[in-house]
Amino acid sequence: MIRTRFAPSPTGYLHIGGVRTALFSWAYARKNKGVFVLRIEDTDLERSTPESVKAILDGMHWVGLDYDEGPFYQTHRFDRYKDVIRQLLDSGHAYLCYCSKDELEAMRAEQEARGEKPRYDRRWRPEAGKTLPTIPADVTPVVRFKTPLDGVVAWDDAVKGRIEIANQELDDLIIARPDGSPTYNFCVVVDDWDMQITHVIRGDDHVNNTPRQINILKALNAPLPVYGHLPMILNEDGQKMSKRRDAVSVVDYADKGILPEALLNYLARLGWGHGDDEFFSMEQFVEWFSLEAVSASASRFNHEKFMWLNAQHIKSADNGRLAELIAPRLAAAGVELSGGPAIEEVIALVKERVQDLNALALEVDYFYRKREASAADVDKHLSDDSVARMGRFADKLAGLDTWSAEAIHELFKPFCAEEGIKMGQLGMPLRVLVCGTTQTPSVDAVLALIGKDEVLRRLRG
Ligand code: GLU
Repeated sequence: MIRTRFAPSPTGYLHIGGVRTALFSWAYARKNKGVFVLRIEDTDLERSTPESVKAILDGMHWVGLDYDEGPFYQTHRFDRYKDVIRQLLDSGHAYLCYCSKDELEAMRAEQEARGEKPRYDRRWRPEAGKTLPTIPADVTPVVRFKTPLDGVVAWDDAVKGRIEIANQELDDLIIARPDGSPTYNFCVVVDDWDMQITHVIRGDDHVNNTPRQINILKALNAPLPVYGHLPMILNEDGQKMSKRRDAVSVVDYADKGILPEALLNYLARLGWGHGDDEFFSMEQFVEWFSLEAVSASASRFNHEKFMWLNAQHIKSADNGRLAELIAPRLAAAGVELSGGPAIEEVIALVKERVQDLNALALEVDYFYRKREASAADVDKHLSDDSVARMGRFADKLAGLDTWSAEAIHELFKPFCAEEGIKMGQLGMPLRVLVCGTTQTPSVDAVLALIGKDEVLRRLRG
């Protein structure tokens, strides 16, 4: 049984890099009929906040990545971590270290003076035949893990291929602080073990932690998961994405009027591909996904392509759902829908013209109230002549028995012939007077939806 997890630290917002990690873990579990676990890594008590936990849970809900187990909170598992620390001490895989802060600083200074890489010199590490220092009365010890002195830690990374790290590169890391609280790498290990995670799919900023975690798992006789480290997402300039420069939080995307399925579709394409397919559903993604097809190098966010994809998803989204999604935007703009045309029909007519939901809300607006035309449009299309002509056209419209796009359309040709004008000389002033903009779908369909009384009121206005 395949089991994957997403394990964010609640120290800010839900980053889109995190969403991509969650997406690939989720897809791998779904593809293999496995289990996807959500774990909140909140052991850093100073940086973790309840607001951030909420941002993660809300963000996961918004993108629609459903988890089968969790959320599990590391802060609820301290007793378990303490048990495992005791187990490692008892089996001789961990030991107490009584170095004071001053001692560690002096050690570091000496090593640096000798031009060595600073590291803990293992003075409290018990070895056969070694005499340990006398236990000082005033120091509460930390617990350190006994990293193997030689050999290599190696794993076949599902994304990056074989990675080998010499144990000599690794320290005897602290697994419990003086107050007994467990440290980050240690909690991850115990959790991945207890939660029976078979595939650890995470950002490649964790590659350095992996050999440490593997050593601890081995000391615990725990099975080793498969590791797959995903490369970073860079911005368009090839830089690491930052909150200052780039939209990085899931909430930013929701605010910009992005559909969650479009964000997931685009994130799926960042560092993974299936032939030339750009636009696809999550069902297709799950069917096609494999870790082998994930690229080992970083990918760049392309805003234009992303917005194009969002437009494709808006086009194929259900109109009723789009109506619900833009309802708060319309309400905030003071657009009153009651008494106007059915919003789903308006959306069906205009949705091909927009790339995001904010633009969709703006596009819908003039079906419910007359928009103020720009000075340039008034100047260009509304002369005394054309306004008088629109009055004559209003009379034709008033005479229609059936109010439909076809019936309105049939008035155009004879009216233009009668007036000796081209279609544009009718369509443009008509749009400006009725809609307040020249940028509309075909004018007969627009008038049909707005409704006879309202159109006449605006034209004669
Ligand atoms: N909590 C870590 C983070 O937010 C992820 C740890 C992991 O996936 O192993 O970056």
